[in-house]
Amino acid sequence: MHELSLAMNIVEIVTEEADKIGRCAVKRIDLEIGSHSGVVMEALTFAMDEAIKGTPLAEAKINYHWVEAVAACQECCQEFKPTEFDHICPHCNSMQTYLIHGKELKVKSVELKEL
Ligand SMILES: [Zn+2]
Repeated sequence: MHELSLAMNIVEIVTEEADKIGRCAVKRIDLEIGSHSGVVMEALTFAMDEAIKGTPLAEAKINYHWVEAVAACQECCQEFKPTEFDHICPHCNSMQTYLIHGKELKVKSVELKEL
């Protein structure tokens, strides 16, 4: 399952950060997930709940920030909302477009507390 390995990866990164500081637990983490990142939100929240067990993140409040995709057109320079499969510019029908937002999949911030 894609989301489970992602969740374990997130836990690993955050645990490493927490270990650097010493005896502390993670109070809160903020995750950013883009609508075009390929992640299924329900699967990720489920996977995170599993992955944090027995780690410094076990008691953490996890905030999931959903980032809607935004694309831009190289031909007419206008921005638009792409659908999942269709990245054609609605203004000039160009296929020369690229995503500005939507691929995000990252830990935005972490709040630690001392034990
Ligand atoms: Zn265009």
